[in-house]
Parts: sequence; C-alpha cells; structure tokens
Amino acid sequence: MSAPSTTVTTSANCWSCSAATAGAHFCPACGKIQPLARGADYFAFFGLPQKLTLGQATLEQQFHSLSWKLHPDRFARASENERQLSLDLTSQLNDAYRTLRDPVARVEYLLSLSGMRKEGQKKQQAPPELLEEVFELNESLDELREARASGGNAQQTAGLRAKLESAQHKFESSLADVDRELAGVSMEWDAALDSSADEAARKKIMERMNEVLNRRSYIRNLVNGVRQELAAT
Ligand SMILES: [Zn+2]
Repeated sequence: MSAPSTTVTTSANCWSCSAATAGAHFCPACGKIQPLARGADYFAFFGLPQKLTLGQATLEQQFHSLSWKLHPDRFARASENERQLSLDLTSQLNDAYRTLRDPVARVEYLLSLSGMRKEGQKKQQAPPELLEEVFELNESLDELREARASGGNAQQTAGLRAKLESAQHKFESSLADVDRELAGVSMEWDAALDSSADEAARKKIMERMNEVLNRRSYIRNLVNGVRQELAAT
C-alpha cells in the first residue's frame, strides 16, 4: 500500500500527433481529445492535488468548463474514436464531480485510492461514548413497535415518540460533531501534503479519517432508522 502522491505526472503521448500530453484532456500541440491518462484518479481528472479542503467554487467552475469542452455535441462530426472519447470522458467527469463535491465522499474516495476503505465494509459497533444512548434508543424503539402492534394507547405512543424525537436530535448533533471532526482531520491531511510529510505520518492521518468515517456511518444509520420509525408511526 502506498500513500497517494501530491501530483500525478504522466508521460502519455497524443494518439494523433505523438506530442507529449502530460495527461491533459486535449493535446497541447494539435488540440485533439485524449483518452484518460493511465492511473488518473478523480483529483487528477480536474488537475488537482489530492487535497481535501479544495475550493467548492473552483471545482464547480472547472466542472462547467470541462463539461462544455468535452460535451458529445461538440464531437458530432468528429471521428468515431473521438466521439467515443468524448462520451467516456464526460461520464468520468460526472462521476469525479459527484464524488469530489461532497466532503464525505471525497474523504472516502481518497482512502479507497490507497485501499484503506472498501465498499460494503460497513458493519459497525456503537462508539463507546454513545453506548448508553444507543441502548436506550433501542429500548424505546422496541416499546414503540410493541405499542403499535398491540394497538397501544395514544398517551403511551406519544410519550415514546417524544423520547425518540429527543434521541434523534441528540444523534443529529453527534453527526454534526463528527462532520466537524472530519473537516479537522481533512485540514491536517492537506497540511501534511503541504509539508511533504512522510508516508508513515500520512498513513496515520488516513487511519484516523477511516475511524471517523466509520463512526459517522454508524451515527447516520441511527438517525435514519429513528427517522423512518417516526415516519411510520
Ligand atoms: Zn496531438
């Protein structure tokens, strides 16, 4: 496993005129559209370093500019090969933008690049500081379901609902805390890249990001679960 580098350098050559393209989407010599550079990730697609606190406005601007330049309509009269490249790159552009514009998906993506995070590895345990609240929550949920199944009285159901609503607020605020924590670690990551921190230091930060993401996904599931239960009542 290797930590990602700050910049991606590619030694590709234009398929049409053989000039060096340095991974650009268009050949600097003849202007022809180029296939995606080998090993290019979503950051490289936008010509960005693998930083996490990237400017939303810059990203959006780049997205609109590239959408226009790569748009299949502009290649309607080009060769079959160029038309296909325009379709491929447009689809890649949309995936890259969807991922990078979201601060959480961006961190998940960065970790997945170095194999630190895999889809479907989501079975989580309750964070220790929330154990008691999770326990109480599950009790209230059980009671509410029982009350509902037995056609329980309105007063009892209202009491349980109030309890669940307050639990929901509590977990929503925990979620906001975790998001702030994630933003903090993201800034540390960028600082580590800026100071060319060694691989061990970067790996340590990634492990923390992974831990924060696990906690986040656990709490988000709780919030969604309570929301669903309340909607069903
Ligand atoms: Zn060329």
